[in-house]
Amino acid sequence: GRNCFTIYDEAMSAELEARNTLEGDLRDAIALCQLEVHYQPFVDAHSSERRGFEALVRWRHPSRGLIPPDQFIPLAEETGLIVPLGEFVLRRACEDAAGWPSGLAVAVNLSPIQFKEAELFEMICAALADSGLPPERLEIEITESVLLERGVENLAFMERLKQLGIELALDDFGTGYSSLSYLTTFPFDKIKIDKSFIRNLTHQPRSSAIIASIVTLARGLDMSVTAEGVETCEEFERLKALGVNFAQGYLFGRPQPVGQIAFDESVRPSQ
Ligand code: C2E
Ligand code: CA
Ligand code: CA
Ligand code: CA
Repeated sequence: GRNCFTIYDEAMSAELEARNTLEGDLRDAIALCQLEVHYQPFVDAHSSERRGFEALVRWRHPSRGLIPPDQFIPLAEETGLIVPLGEFVLRRACEDAAGWPSGLAVAVNLSPIQFKEAELFEMICAALADSGLPPERLEIEITESVLLERGVENLAFMERLKQLGIELALDDFGTGYSSLSYLTTFPFDKIKIDKSFIRNLTHQPRSSAIIASIVTLARGLDMSVTAEGVETCEEFERLKALGVNFAQGYLFGRPQPVGQIAFDESVRPSQ
C-alpha cells in the first residue's frame, strides 16, 4: 500500500501469483463448464465382466490443455471450491450413469472437505432424484482422512447413505493411518487397495502377504475388495489367486469421456 512496502522473495511471489491465477481460473472453470468427468471401468475379478465405472474429474484448460485432478483438487480443497466442483461431478456422474445399462454402477470420490458441508446429504439425494439413478447404482469413495475428524457425525452420515442403498468404499486403503478400527466402526461395503501395493506385487512377496491379509480381513467383515492400478495380466492373475473381488486399472481401460465408452459390444454391428 501507500508508504508501505514488502520485500518478497522473487520465487515466492511468482509462486503466489501462479496460485492466484490458478485459483481464479478454477473458479471460472466451474462457471464456464470447463470441467469434464471421465470414467474408468472396474471389473468383477472372477468373470472379468464390467461392473461399473469410477468418475474422475479433469479440467480442460483453455491454454494449458487437459489438467489432471492431482494438479487442482488440493487447491480446490484449500479454497473451498471443492464444494461446487464436487457437486458438479456427482450430478454429472449420476446423469451419465442413469443412461447406462442397469447392471453398471458409478463410483464418485468425495473429498473430506465436502463432509463438512451440512447440506451434503440433501445434495446427494437431489442428484439421485434429478437424474433418476437408483441409489443402489451409486458408490461413494472416501479416504481415511475423512474418518479422523468428527467420527460420530460421519458415522451417522454414512449410516444414512447406507439406508438409501448407496454403497460405501474405503479408498486408498493402506496408505494412510489405516486404523483397523475404522473397518469395524464405519459401514463400508468395499475396500480399495491402493495401487502402490499392486505396483510391487510381482517383485515383492511381502505385497502378496499384505493383500492376502486384507482379503481375509475383508471377508471376515463381509466387505469386498477392489485392487486398483492393475496394469498387467500377471498382476491380475496374482490378484485373482489372492481372492480380490474387483479389479480396476489400465489393463481394463483408461479413464475416458462418456461418449467414447462402448456399452454393449454384442449389439455393435460387425464390420
Ligand atoms: P483415486 O481416487 O485413487 O483414483 C485412481 C487414480 O489412479 C486415477 O488418477 C486413475 O486415472 C489412476 N489409475 C487408474 N488405473 C491406473 C493404473 O493402472 N496405473 C496407474 N498408474 N494409475 C491408474 P486420476 O484420475 O489422475 O485421479 C487422481 C486422484 O484425484 C484420484 O485418486 C482422486 O483422489 C482424485 N480425484 C479425481 N476425481 C475426483 C473428484 O471428482 N473428486 C475428488 N474429491 N477427488 C477426485
Ligand atoms: Ca477413488
Ligand atoms: Ca484410490
Ligand atoms: Ca487418491
